[in-house]
Amino acid sequence: MGEEGPMGEGPASRVAEHGNFIGGAWRPASSGRTFESRNPADGRLIGRFAASQGVDVTAAVAAARAAFPDWRATPAPRRGELLYRFGALLTQHKEELARAMTEEMGKVLEEARGDVQEGIDIAYLMAGEGRRLFGDVVPSELPDKWAMSVREPLGVAALITPWNFPVAIPCWKMMPALVAGNCVVLKPASATPHCAVLLVRILEEAGLPPGVVNLVTGSGAQVGMPLVKDPDVDVVGFTGNGETGRTIAVAAAERGTRLSMELGGKNAIVVLDDADLELAVEGIIWSAFGTTGQRCTACSRVIVSDGIADDLVARLIERAGALRLGSGLEPGVDVGPLIDAAAVEKVERYVAIGQAEGAVLACGGRPAISGALAQGHFFEATIFDRVEPTSRLAQEEIFGPLLSVIRVADYEAAVNVARGVRYGLSSSIFTSDVSTAFRAMRDFDTGIVYVNAGTIGAETHLPFGGTKATGNGQREAGHAALDTYTEWKAVYVDYSGRLQRAQIDNQPQG
Ligand code: NDP
Repeated sequence: MGEEGPMGEGPASRVAEHGNFIGGAWRPASSGRTFESRNPADGRLIGRFAASQGVDVTAAVAAARAAFPDWRATPAPRRGELLYRFGALLTQHKEELARAMTEEMGKVLEEARGDVQEGIDIAYLMAGEGRRLFGDVVPSELPDKWAMSVREPLGVAALITPWNFPVAIPCWKMMPALVAGNCVVLKPASATPHCAVLLVRILEEAGLPPGVVNLVTGSGAQVGMPLVKDPDVDVVGFTGNGETGRTIAVAAAERGTRLSMELGGKNAIVVLDDADLELAVEGIIWSAFGTTGQRCTACSRVIVSDGIADDLVARLIERAGALRLGSGLEPGVDVGPLIDAAAVEKVERYVAIGQAEGAVLACGGRPAISGALAQGHFFEATIFDRVEPTSRLAQEEIFGPLLSVIRVADYEAAVNVARGVRYGLSSSIFTSDVSTAFRAMRDFDTGIVYVNAGTIGAETHLPFGGTKATGNGQREAGHAALDTYTEWKAVYVDYSGRLQRAQIDNQPQG
């Protein structure tokens, strides 16, 4: 994130400047400072954004706290109606938002539309939850007594999001938090503040009361950490990398703040001898190189049985080599840029690591710099073959267009390799044997399992999240998301007119 300085882009007035949204008003950072967001495909300046600090965070949290009593008291179906209106407006603005996303973080336009669609889907799902928000009504163990549980909002939700799904992920957090009656402070990634500004403008247009949603842009250290540490924040929803997650978890633990973490992945696709090979190739190419490999659910390991490995690798090389790199706004482009120069360097570093580890570089392996690509952060679709399952290439999240192929003898070996990483987000198997498919559903230890499909493509009405180092046991999406943003309250109503003691008065007298 670059602080404001001479841009060489012409008069400063031509570049839009965007503030924070606090208590229903747009305002600059208290320091007056800004930072830039640039297009990763060509380096063009998109806009300048408030470089906020602790004092801005305090103001946003205070606005959220002030709005909480009225929002909490608003009937949940009414809250749901506002989310429905937001979903409808997001649909109207879908194309504009998708284009802004492609410009700001690089994914190809078709995928950017899918990202916005995920936001629409979760808005409508959670709008419906406004008329459900189910608790339990259960029989009491005592006569003339009523027993039930209801969900309660927590208060202020601090939501810290990454750049790779700049509309979907903020919506996956905001929609359940809001329908449950919480107020929100959103801190988006510094690489995608424009998407966040556009999204919050749509929430404003939907008519959410002032203070219910607040936006504070700025760095993780200056905005993210003060948010996590703010004594008036009741729950933190975080998606990002594991290292940041651990720092946040320590800070949250000091105050006992509830925390939901969605972290990295090292997702595997298993391909067995009886697989439909062409279908498997489609699934692998889409999962490994879609969003330039920058998805938490991206496939970075293919685990293939020896009998078909040569055939599969040959087909993958052919398909990967044919992928067209370029600006995601250009028709016919398959793969956009990486998010920044550091991401290109990281992938390059892992290519060197793979070679040093003795894996076979089957295709790609270099930054793509021919012609117009030289203006952006592009990298060739890269495949390593004969990767050792315990090597760094096969164990560490790379978050770029680099795929490792691991050869195994049979299903049992494939499962061991698939499970043998610290992450547990998504996994997939290609097989035509229904019994093997069911074994895989049982044996894979990830939060999401696909059969005869790639590792990406979650739908919003099922829980989303991972096991092991991928998270802390929370889930986003589906009605499971409500668990993060609500507290259970058990309610007992005794209408017997006498004192009835549970566990005592209902026991047989001895
Ligand atoms: P980061 O962890 O770098 O950043 C995520 C967010 O945290 C950003 O808003 C960032 O701000 C903020 N942040 C950074 N440092 C701190 C800090 N010390 N305190 C508080 N907040 C901080 O992740 P990336 O943006 O690089 O996203 C990629 C990662 O996200 C990958 O590891 C990927 O696997 C993971 N991910 C996981 C998903 C899941 O559901 N499991 C889904 C999507 C991505 P700033 O941008 O200003 O640095």
